Amino acid sequence: MTTSLTPSVNQAMQTTETCNNDLKQGPWFLDLPGMPGTYGPGASQDDSAPSHTPKQQVLPKDYQQASDEELHARIRAAKKTLGDRVVILGHFYQRDEVIQHADFVGDSFQLARAAKTRPEAEAIVFCGVHFMAETADLLSTDQQAVILPNLAAGCSMADMADLDSVEECWEQLTDLYGPYGDETIIPVTYMNSSAALKGFVGRHGGIVCTSSNARAVLEWAFERGQRVLFFPDQHLGRNTAKAMGISLDQMPLWNPNKPLGGNTEEDLHNAKVLLWHGFCSVHKRFTVAQIDKARADYPGVQVIVHPESPMAVVDAADSSGSTDFIVKAIDAAPAGTTFAIGTEINLVQRLAAQHPEHTIFCLDPVICPCSTMYRIHPGYLAWVLEELVSGNTINQITVSEDVAEPARIALERMLSVVPPAESTK
Ligand code: SF4
Repeated sequence: MTTSLTPSVNQAMQTTETCNNDLKQGPWFLDLPGMPGTYGPGASQDDSAPSHTPKQQVLPKDYQQASDEELHARIRAAKKTLGDRVVILGHFYQRDEVIQHADFVGDSFQLARAAKTRPEAEAIVFCGVHFMAETADLLSTDQQAVILPNLAAGCSMADMADLDSVEECWEQLTDLYGPYGDETIIPVTYMNSSAALKGFVGRHGGIVCTSSNARAVLEWAFERGQRVLFFPDQHLGRNTAKAMGISLDQMPLWNPNKPLGGNTEEDLHNAKVLLWHGFCSVHKRFTVAQIDKARADYPGVQVIVHPESPMAVVDAADSSGSTDFIVKAIDAAPAGTTFAIGTEINLVQRLAAQHPEHTIFCLDPVICPCSTMYRIHPGYLAWVLEELVSGNTINQITVSEDVAEPARIALERMLSVVPPAESTK
């Protein structure tokens, strides 16, 4: 897919300093029995993973020991044998070595919708993370199986809001706001959350949002309630609400480990948007100092960051927006533009390779990819595809119908507010 000489992140990691030297090896060492359930090397390496984090069985040695060329040849051969029976989805943040095999490339929701254009595919192989595979399962037919090549590819941000903690929070809030709590507070979950939380918001009159439609979704919520409970990403919630003119003192943070989330009753009565204490460890790495340095080194540089970045970073950037926004801004720029981008390194490096007419670099000087996206390696992709060829569906992600039904309602509400843009490929 990439034709430029710009190295992929994987290639660059072999020779450049990264945030963790373990990134240089295949991620299967993390699957060994006895290894603690961690997110592994990369941006989430210091986050604590919940004890129920799914483990991946050890990848058969055959795939661990195969060369890159052999794995690519095996993936291509399996794909050819399977034909229309399989569709491979590749998230923007996946390594190029995986993306080159994808039928569709995009963000999580674009990909889940793209799969709907392939109803004949019995298997949807989602090269992304767990919540994305769940969303694809919600939107696919009963005859389709959604496969996540590495079950340990979760998302540290999504894991920061679990159903029990959100239900506990909801109980406290409805007690505080009175018997009509469901009418006065609307739960909004970011797409980057478990299906269980999408189901929760569906059951409580709430809605799902993406990073490209968060403002329209919040406006929808405020037509229906006085307040919003926004989870799991505090930064997307804060950046969006601030742009709508909501003051910071009306956006208390909800820490699930403290009574009333660590707030006073007065804070909560004054609140317009309650922000869950969650964040993306990839986007948390971006700083104002990095932006200052980019401006000093490259006068005239355009700084674009993802709204999962901290507020001060979004404020200091020239613009902020979803991955799709970033891709389109670069496509539309006149040749010779210099961009400093604040989002996951695999996407930034790929954009740099695809746009040799521009200068494009990541704001973060240290290579530190998303820990969980990194768990999908061509070895796992070859393995799940060859198992499909042998008639075995492995690593299937299924959302139970009692969760799926309200979760689909929450997604349909979002689609009624903002119809989605089409897939990028
Ligand atoms: S980039 Fe952030 S939000 Fe996306 S999967 Fe990785 S940890 Fe989760």
